[in-house]
Amino acid sequence: MALSSKARPYLLVAALVLVVAGVLVVKMPGPPEVTPQAVPESPATTTPAVVDAEGGDGAGDPYYPQDGNTGYDVRGYDVSISYDPATRRLDGKALITAVATDGLSRFNLDLYELEVSEVAVGDRPAEFRQEGDHELVITPADPLAEGGEFVVAVTYGGVPTLFEDRALGRSGWQVSASGGAFAAGEPHSATTWFPANDTPRDKASFTLAARVPDGWSVVSNGAEGETTHADGWSTYRWDAPQPMATYLTTVAIDKWTIDRTTLADGTPVVNAFAPGVSRAPEDRDRLPEVLAFLASEFGPYPFESAGGIFLADDIGFSLETQTRPVYAGWADLETVVHENAHQWFGNSVTLRSWADICLNECFASYAQWLWAEEKDGADLDADYRAEVARTGDSTQYWNRKLYDMGRGNEFRGVYDKGQLAVHALRRQIGDESFGEVLRTWIARHRDGNASWPEFEAHVEQVSGQELDGFFAAWFRADAIPSDQHLWPGTLRK
Ligand SMILES: [Zn+2]
Repeated sequence: MALSSKARPYLLVAALVLVVAGVLVVKMPGPPEVTPQAVPESPATTTPAVVDAEGGDGAGDPYYPQDGNTGYDVRGYDVSISYDPATRRLDGKALITAVATDGLSRFNLDLYELEVSEVAVGDRPAEFRQEGDHELVITPADPLAEGGEFVVAVTYGGVPTLFEDRALGRSGWQVSASGGAFAAGEPHSATTWFPANDTPRDKASFTLAARVPDGWSVVSNGAEGETTHADGWSTYRWDAPQPMATYLTTVAIDKWTIDRTTLADGTPVVNAFAPGVSRAPEDRDRLPEVLAFLASEFGPYPFESAGGIFLADDIGFSLETQTRPVYAGWADLETVVHENAHQWFGNSVTLRSWADICLNECFASYAQWLWAEEKDGADLDADYRAEVARTGDSTQYWNRKLYDMGRGNEFRGVYDKGQLAVHALRRQIGDESFGEVLRTWIARHRDGNASWPEFEAHVEQVSGQELDGFFAAWFRADAIPSDQHLWPGTLRK
């Protein structure tokens, strides 16, 4: 994610730092409820275990404990929606294939505001109720056996809305100035348009069929499928087979101008431009160059399709939605570099908890520095020294923690201080080791999840250096690092 420059009250925009964090005030809901978790059954009996566990209503993120659920693991979402821009009404049916990780008499999905009319598990209708902010509680006719795969079908509808009270401001389903609509947002957004296990820890494949009145068109994640027309409506199909976190799903409805091309290896690229988007033609064609550069730094591009969704609206953020980022009207080439770096850092390798956000943003932001070094001949050590000189006396700058920064603070320091921290790490362990750290990290955790502490251990293992003091000073502390850690390697005065 990259934030709009309008959100930044106190920092000057440095030559290379187009994306820096502002102070964002966040309204927080009350303390989370404590949820009793299912008790594991006792092992090894000769009779079948009694199936009476109930899935939990939160996946356990320390900052967003009610997001997601426990008791099952989603393998795939197959979502069909029908949306009419004239009425803003959405009707949907989601087929969710999952595996029970426990014997379940009951389980939850997450869905925000929309009304559920029917639920089936397998071929039998299931009881359901909608509770609180976003819980859909489902009681299947027959309990689910541990380890068994099941399909839950949810029919739902209503006028989708957005979250206003999260770290990013507006997040989720939004109506565009053109009258179209799109869904994007972090850490939430998916549940404003389909029922999901809304935690980044449960990645799954995603297939969409979206029906809109003729004249409108639909762009989403993954590869384009067949478009069909009937009765004045068109149905667009998209298929993203590789595991994806729910916050990285997107749908965008507008009167798109589509550019199609391929990467050197044949990977299809689909760029969609909303009416009114003005982008210089030379910028429009540079995604293959950007992805080739990032692949040279991080390893092969991790997905089977690529592209971008370029909105005309100046929304507050651009977001790295998987394979096809959503760009605000203000996005520039550097934003394209940032959001595509996330395809490796955040999307292929997804954080385990939101406290790990530096794994996404520090590296996507540092990719902008790498790009500037390669393409513009930037002297990164000089830029680093200039930034430290400019900010050295600023408590506000240095007191932003990069790891476990607390709910609502996730996006405060990771963009600008995060760039300095990663550059210091590179100088600390040397270029060769730094490149190996990044490439082996991505290869090792491809299509999975990983945490910041795991990254620290990985760096120590690859570099052979003991770095507890370095990581404490840069990522866990709330003050400027001591000279020893502030000026490593070639930065040493
Ligand atoms: Zn980002």
